Amino acid sequence: MIVFDLLCAAGHPFEGWFGSADEFASQQTRQLVQCPSCGSAEVRRIPSAARINLGAQEPARPAKAPERTPEMEGKDPFAIAQMLYSRMLDELLTKTEDVGKDFPAEARRIYYQEAPARAIRGQATDQEHDELVEEGVPVARLPGLPTGKLN
Ligand SMILES: [Zn+2]
Repeated sequence: MIVFDLLCAAGHPFEGWFGSADEFASQQTRQLVQCPSCGSAEVRRIPSAARINLGAQEPARPAKAPERTPEMEGKDPFAIAQMLYSRMLDELLTKTEDVGKDFPAEARRIYYQEAPARAIRGQATDQEHDELVEEGVPVARLPGLPTGKLN
């Protein structure tokens, strides 16, 4: 005889004694294994208590936390995203040349190697932007710039 720890669909744990694992499977299929508390035949095996104790002794693997800098500590994800976005913006503003309304023309000149290759920013209308994209000029829209100088 072997003993199985069982659980019914309503969550009642109970023990069942069977001649073999096959016998349990057979009885379970024919819905002969029923919960003593509620009579449910929807029953499944759960790991035995011994097995559960064994599992609990395994050392817990520490979850790898995402890289955080001290200044991000205690901030909510939205604040962190804002911080990263404003850093990216700083980077962008210091490393690009502001060509203002000449942006579409200047972007083309750079693309066709008529002007020195460099990162520029400036203004473009929706139509100008679409035309640049159609020509294959690599441009990116940057919504929400504080200066309002881009698009
Ligand atoms: Zn039950």
